[in-house]
Formats: sequence, structure tokens, C-alpha cells
Amino acid sequence: MATSSKVLISVKHLVKEYNHGTVHALDGCDLDIHKGEVVAIIGPSGSGKSTLLRSLNMLEEPTSGAIFFDGVDLADKSVDINLHRQKMGMVFQHFNLFPHKTVLQNITLAPVTLKKKTPAEAETQARTLLERIGLSDKANEYPNMLSGGQKQRIAIVRALAMDPEVMLFDEPTSALDPISTQKIEDLALELKENYTIVIVTHSMQQARRISDKTAFFLLGELIEFNNTLDMFTNPSNPKTEEYITGRFG
Ligand code: ADP
Repeated sequence: MATSSKVLISVKHLVKEYNHGTVHALDGCDLDIHKGEVVAIIGPSGSGKSTLLRSLNMLEEPTSGAIFFDGVDLADKSVDINLHRQKMGMVFQHFNLFPHKTVLQNITLAPVTLKKKTPAEAETQARTLLERIGLSDKANEYPNMLSGGQKQRIAIVRALAMDPEVMLFDEPTSALDPISTQKIEDLALELKENYTIVIVTHSMQQARRISDKTAFFLLGELIEFNNTLDMFTNPSNPKTEEYITGRFG
């Protein structure tokens, strides 16, 4: 999708504290994500990257500040959070497939129960998606029969089956080998055509390959947010430079 000038997600001075204010996960983050953009979130462990991602679909409640989606304040009492979550497909590091359900059941469960698709509709869509990722032959297998890379591709397809607007990826390739990683990146690049994407990653190479913009977090603070190419070729903050050149202490 071409990046639009429309701001889809607007994070306003987001503060998130845990353990009665003793842990400052996010320290007043401001960030706008435009429709169609791919934004990579990078930074050392414990910088608040996952907290930000989880906040976007309200798996975390802000301590203060606000998140607007399509101009609507998600804290507004009239917002149906479950409906909002359906717009945000989420993909996790450890896939989180339902182990006792087949691949097909994993993909069709939410569309049938939450989106009220008929089982036949959901199955047709699931089979189309499986074909797209080259895993049609796995439809009736259980997750434990699949490789990590296959599980992750199924997890992505499961999220896509809910027809989301945004795809949120939380370190989707951390548990994968290089070849599976490349396949997930290829799929993410394909998804760029149709979705706004936010991806938390430890891989600089992945951020460079996939994203339009990169946000660098350090200890809960958004240090730099810029076009990916600019950030990696000419970081404006010395801390960013230290991190991306691997000299981070
Ligand atoms: P990252 O994704 O960059 O590794 P996180 O968002 O997971 O960072 O965590 C940011 C900080 O918040 C860390 O200090 C982490 O220990 C803390 N934290 C995250 N989730 C919780 C939680 N549920 N309860 C308490 N502390 C948490």
C-alpha cells in the first residue's frame, strides 16, 4: 500500500508504569503512524518496545497519555475494544497457535466466533490464505507437526483471516532459523501492499529490509523516529548510532 498522508495511529505522550510506578516501561512516547506505513520498533531488551505494541491493541492500559486510532481515542468509553482488536492482527514470537486444533481450525476459529462468518466462508478464506503461503497440504495437521517457520506463517495467516487493517508483529523471527526468517520477511514485504505494519525486531537487517520508518527506544524513551534509510545511514542521535552500529554498552 502506498503510504498515505492519513495518520492511522497516533500515540500521544504515552506513559506506562508497572508495579505501582516502580517500573517505567514507557516514558511519554509520541508517535504517529500513517496508513500504509511499515514501522520497525528497535532497541535493547527492556526498552518498552513490546509494551508499546501491546498498548496499540489495548492489551496494556496506559498509565497516562492516549492512543488514537483513526482519530478515535481508544480510552473513550464508547469504543468497543474487542472490535478495535479485530482491526489489529497480532503475531507473537512464539506463534501462540492452539495446540489441540488443526491448522484449519486455528485459522477459522476467530472469524467464525468473533466475525460471525459462516464455517464454509471461513474455510474457503483459510484455504485461499494457506495456498498463498504454500501450506495448503498442512490444513489438517496439528501445530506440533510443523516447523517453527511454518507455525509462524500459519500464525500470520490466522491473523489475516480476521481482515485486520494493521498487523502487529512482536519479534516474529526471534525463534526462527535464517531461512524461515527470510520467508517471514518475504511475507511481510508482500503484506506491505495491503496493511499498515508495526514490527518489533532485534534485527537491524530486518528493520532495514522491511520498514519505511524506524523508532529507536531506550529505557522507555523514544530516542529517534525517522525514515529507516535516514536512520541507518545518518542517525541524528549518538545513542541511536551506538545501538545500530553494535557499540551499545
Ligand atoms: P522490550 O519489549 O523493549 O524488551 P518491554 O516492553 O517488554 O521491553 O518491557 C519494558 C519494561 O517494563 C521492562 O523493564 C520490563 O521488565 C517491564 N515490564 C514489562 N511488562 C511488565 C509487566 N507485565 N509487569 C511488570 N513489569 C513489566
